[in-house]
Amino acid sequence: MRRVLLARFGEVHLKGSNRPYFLRTLVDNVRKAVEDIGGHVWMAESRIYVSNASDMDECAERVRKVFGIYSVSPAIEMEKDLDAICRQAAEMMKGMRGSFKVICKRSDKKFPLNSQELAAKVGEAILEVNDKLVVDVHDPEIRMKVDIRDHAYLCNTETMAVGGLPMGTSGRAMLLLSGGIDSPVAGYQIMRRGVHVQSIHFASPPYTSERAKEKVLALAKKVGEYEYGMRVHMVPFTKIQMEIHEKCEDGLGTVIMRRAMMRIADRIAKENNCLALITGESIGQVASQTMEALACTDAVATMPVFRPLIGMDKLAIIRIAEEIDTYETSILPYEDCCTVFTPRHPVTKPKIDKVEKEEKRLDLETLIEEAVQNTEILFLKD
Ligand code: ATP
Ligand code: MG
Repeated sequence: MRRVLLARFGEVHLKGSNRPYFLRTLVDNVRKAVEDIGGHVWMAESRIYVSNASDMDECAERVRKVFGIYSVSPAIEMEKDLDAICRQAAEMMKGMRGSFKVICKRSDKKFPLNSQELAAKVGEAILEVNDKLVVDVHDPEIRMKVDIRDHAYLCNTETMAVGGLPMGTSGRAMLLLSGGIDSPVAGYQIMRRGVHVQSIHFASPPYTSERAKEKVLALAKKVGEYEYGMRVHMVPFTKIQMEIHEKCEDGLGTVIMRRAMMRIADRIAKENNCLALITGESIGQVASQTMEALACTDAVATMPVFRPLIGMDKLAIIRIAEEIDTYETSILPYEDCCTVFTPRHPVTKPKIDKVEKEEKRLDLETLIEEAVQNTEILFLKD
């Protein structure tokens, strides 16, 4: 008898002929998540199992964060002996209160009792040792599950995992990562769909501080936990911002700056085989996020720009930021390059021809080339 972790996967069921590839990737990713704590991972009959980890609670927490995993249950793996199973189930339900149901599945048809008979026996054994429990077959608080497979597997809790699709099954994208609340959440949402994410950040020293940079790197590291590391491209953006500030109409400064960001991100993304850009924008949140402004920024991208938060309210975004533990870092009060040169009266409905005309005052090609050449690449891992 030993402790194992049982992990269920969700949507991967739906993937038709790609299914074997998705499953292989999923199992590999679970393996990567637990290898340094000695976890032994295998798949059998549409479940993933982990045994032998030095810390099984830590193991559960890590597997819960593997995209594609739907839920996890700490379980007991044991011999298929009726008395031993009843004893073990009773032991697991000791000290519990409320309503319960025993749910048995028998994929080993050689086991002498069928599922109903086994459930009845196990239920009796539980009630014998615990009179604080009552049976409720319709809406029980506790589900005691007994699976008869190569061994018997018993569990009575199930924790929801992150869901989504296995990391790496959907290609790669470039996240425009600021120090704010939204972009880490946007990155997370896209990663959940199996997309590898790299980050790009625009810094404007000395207007933005070293601490602001460290904050962004901390966020990249945190989001990178779902990737087992994160590549970050740090773009020096001061000169471009100064030029925009000096030469272009003040009210259009923000949209012109965002277009410069897009152009640079687009180029670096292409060089890194990314298929899309990701931002944390949502409609109407600030002046640069009206539909008119978004259209102006999109116009310079050559690849799709995904904005997973586009229809979300700030509060819902904050909730996810708290879940993925980026919120506390995001609200640290260091300045972002966007805030340094914010126009006093930003144009909220910029017209593209006006924007293009203003941009002609800049030698964008040279400025962008210089920024790209001086971009620093970091790899962050916990
Ligand atoms: P966030 O909370 O993500 O900073 P925000 O609500 O503050 O977003 P903006 O500052 O207008 O909105 O930025 C919109 C999006 O543009 C960000 O979500 C991010 O994807 C990108 N972005 C903004 N500033 C930077 C930066 N300095 N480096 C990289 N990307 C940036
Ligand atoms: Mg911001």
